[in-house]
Amino acid sequence: MGRLRGEITLSQFLTRSLREDGRKPIQSLVLYTQDEWKGKEGQIGQFTKEDGRKYVGRRLIDVPDPFGCHANWVEHYWQDFGSVLDRFAPNVRIVSTTEAYRNPEMQALVRDLAARAEEVRAVVNKYRARHPYPPGWIPFEAFCEQCQTIGAKTTSIEGMNASYRCERCGHVGKSSIEKGKLNWRLEWPALWKVYRVDIEPFGKDHATPGGSRDSCKEIAEVIMHFRPPMGIPYEWVGISDRGKDLGDMGSSDFLGFTPVQWVEVADPEVLRYTYAFNPIFRRVVLDLYRVDTYHDLYDRAEDLFYADEREGDEEDQARSFELAQLSAPPKTKPFALSYRHAAFLSQISPDSGRVEWCIKRLRDTGILTRAPNGLERDRIARRLAQSRAWVERHAPENRVKLLEQMPPEVTRQLELGDRNALRMFATRAASLRWTEDAIKEAMVTLTKSGTLPVETNRFFRDLYLVLLGTERGPRAAPFLAVLEKDWVVRRLTEAAQ
Ligand SMILES: [Zn+2]
Ligand SMILES: [Zn+2]
Repeated sequence: MGRLRGEITLSQFLTRSLREDGRKPIQSLVLYTQDEWKGKEGQIGQFTKEDGRKYVGRRLIDVPDPFGCHANWVEHYWQDFGSVLDRFAPNVRIVSTTEAYRNPEMQALVRDLAARAEEVRAVVNKYRARHPYPPGWIPFEAFCEQCQTIGAKTTSIEGMNASYRCERCGHVGKSSIEKGKLNWRLEWPALWKVYRVDIEPFGKDHATPGGSRDSCKEIAEVIMHFRPPMGIPYEWVGISDRGKDLGDMGSSDFLGFTPVQWVEVADPEVLRYTYAFNPIFRRVVLDLYRVDTYHDLYDRAEDLFYADEREGDEEDQARSFELAQLSAPPKTKPFALSYRHAAFLSQISPDSGRVEWCIKRLRDTGILTRAPNGLERDRIARRLAQSRAWVERHAPENRVKLLEQMPPEVTRQLELGDRNALRMFATRAASLRWTEDAIKEAMVTLTKSGTLPVETNRFFRDLYLVLLGTERGPRAAPFLAVLEKDWVVRRLTEAAQ
């Protein structure tokens, strides 16, 4: 999910805007499959049937799939990202570094850099004052044919082959340059050059003055003789669990969640909106527990997009909403079912014919004032399914099951004050326009009036008890708003007897 921010979403906004400007940009994503698998704790932990430590030093592409269902490590973990990438940003060209080294232009560059190793070394060492590379260093990490790792010390390059001495196993031999990789400081500008990169968002850790990206820019200009791309540094995406910040997401630490997990509970546009609205230099923290609030923000932005007047940052909200769309928004504002309403409706509705049942209920309760068109119907259906999955997987406190009848153990827990309080609310409810706001207002008036015979907490406990059979429940007003008013009034009156 973190990766979707700069490398995918921001790049897609740029690509689209440039296209609207009459240019022909290509959006690309590089997968560093030729990199060494470091065997971080989280990575080792993926192997449960064998000790993963034996794969340390291999290229990512050569590490087996710990679960055995794909050809290798890369393909297994790409599934959680690549299988839904098109839904977040269509037509991204995927380039793996493994493919890049099969490109004759890249191979020519490798040979050229090896031939000018001393010149390269002088520039690179400016950035390695404490640990300069020794004379004779060649900026290429060869593949060792004996222990199958990457990073063997290259002693010379002739034609397609690198001669090497492996420091892991001691093997001395030759391997194809297709199997190795340039030192990262040369690889980065080489990719810019070979793939004609004009604009590149990159993580802020590379952005420090005199840092890694500056060194790559210098190499591009001084050694490879081309103009480096315009760079856009971006802030990381953090992960939190019920408001507790767990730090920045990181795929090799297995910290975060995946785009596949996101699309189970929300449309890609909702995330694209979050990334569009937050300035690129500000940290964004995502929490699956708070998916409902991301929808509130998104729906609010949609309202503003269709509004006649906007002020302050409402303009930014509306523009971010527009950027977030993957297809042209309809001319008039479509009906939006609140995510929280959808979460409750999806739980109190029958399995078969759920969407029709919910639409009928939305019309009966006045939340939906006309027959929905096809697009609106699809949106309602999606939110019902997504919010239901969200409650099940990430927010079980919002689980509700209506009591079909009042069991005696509920009745026994109601004292005189409880019954009177419920009666007072039932009387008010009977004359209310049954909307979330009106219900909320009626509750506030009642609890603040001082006439309620029980404490506010006790009143809500009574309410949940007679409707759900539990002492706690979801936020009351949005929950009540999706129930049939007559049913609620009948139940409260029955409980009050
Ligand atoms: Zn697999
Ligand atoms: Zn070796």
